[in-house]
Amino acid sequence: MKLLLLGMLNNLSISQVHQGLKNKEFSAKNLVEDYFKIIKEKDGEINSFITLMEKEALGQAKIVDQKIKQKKFGNNLLEGIPLVIKDNILIKGVLCTAASKILANYRATYDATVIKKLKEINSIFLGKTNLDEFAMGASSETSYFGPVKNPHNLSCVSGGSSGGSAAAVASGMCLGALGSDTGGSIRQPASFCGVVGLKPTYGRVSRYGLIAMASSLDQIGALAKTVEDASIILKGIEGGDAKDSTSRTPNFPIELPKNIDWRNIKVGLPKEFFSHGLDPQIKKLIDNLIKKISDAGAKIIEVSLRNLDYALASYYILMPAEVSANLARYDGIRYGHCEQKESLLEVYLKSRTNGFGDEARRRIILGTFVLSAGYYEAYYHKAQQVRELITGDFEKIFKEVDCLITPTTPTTAFKIGEKIDNPLAMYLSDIYTVPVNLAGLPAISLPIGQVDRLPVGLQIIGDHFEENKILDIAKTIESMLL
Ligand code: GLN
Repeated sequence: MKLLLLGMLNNLSISQVHQGLKNKEFSAKNLVEDYFKIIKEKDGEINSFITLMEKEALGQAKIVDQKIKQKKFGNNLLEGIPLVIKDNILIKGVLCTAASKILANYRATYDATVIKKLKEINSIFLGKTNLDEFAMGASSETSYFGPVKNPHNLSCVSGGSSGGSAAAVASGMCLGALGSDTGGSIRQPASFCGVVGLKPTYGRVSRYGLIAMASSLDQIGALAKTVEDASIILKGIEGGDAKDSTSRTPNFPIELPKNIDWRNIKVGLPKEFFSHGLDPQIKKLIDNLIKKISDAGAKIIEVSLRNLDYALASYYILMPAEVSANLARYDGIRYGHCEQKESLLEVYLKSRTNGFGDEARRRIILGTFVLSAGYYEAYYHKAQQVRELITGDFEKIFKEVDCLITPTTPTTAFKIGEKIDNPLAMYLSDIYTVPVNLAGLPAISLPIGQVDRLPVGLQIIGDHFEENKILDIAKTIESMLL
């Protein structure tokens, strides 16, 4: 068996690696060993991983190699594929910290449904990736385990909260990754790190075993080098689950994306996404691309998301309200960090005060406030109404167009430390991604170029359960850029 050349590995897609395993060009063991070589070389600087799973991965590789030998390999493209998993998704027996001190020693007692599915397919897990604490942030700087650096420029953030997953894919430390997206946490780091990030429709993927942040918004999705790879990962994890009553098996399962004929496509450009706050150089890149698409025959239609201005305000009321409820379970008694004190109240107070970081505490306090008697109507209820309006805006727009094209983020990756003391500035980087979660829609971010040597992401938003359509459109754009 030939050993993989390290340089070559970086250029291989999931289906190519799968083929390589099938043709016995290399073994799963070779593959895992090479990835750990790369991880050990690079991760000291990047900090993508909280937990490495070398022993487990080699064990999984052995099973795959046996199947290859017995000619029982080849049913699923994800079989034998080395992936990394965001550290808010449970793998039985492995630490799951959500990048918080309060869960720093918590070992999962069961597999998340997505993990169970991937284990049945025999995918290989290389490790658990770094994130903002409890997935709250846009830079991966709120992690108890230190920030994730951007592989394109180590003085910049990786984005967040799935920064560890995005940086691991971007620096070739794995073939693909799972992340979670509550307000942009897959798409924004994908955009900052120059990889593909796919957030499915709310309900396409089970969240059983995902550490909850804001349950009406959370969704698990994929990060990968290409649109096809992202679709393969999503195919592996999608489907209804009795353990998550919000999930369902869609009528149209994910298929491998194919190139489309632009003459059959109507693209909506929501004008509010291209106005104030958008880096003019990002706008230029997108304008050029839209011109190409239009020249190829697509119908470009300007549309309006009238309530965009209120999306962020609504999200930053609803999300902390749900966060405050979900994080109530970390009381120092049931699991995680516990401070032994005289009275029960003191145990609660000290364990939570010292176990949570600043951003988590900020959101718990905000969330408790907006839900409190007297303020519920003024804040929470109002924000719910705004959410309805935004969902209605999208509904109307999707009667007219096949997809929406927007920037994923208003700027490229910012410097580490630049926004960490200014939460409002940090929250603004979610402006284009948050409305999608409020409406439960699927969206993908794909790299379309660079500004000052930092990647730029394009967001394609689809109607509910129309992942196949946006994947086809994304793949066609990807091939136009080659
Ligand atoms: N940046 C957003 C926030 O801090 C998104 C988080 C997420 O999607 N998990 O809430």
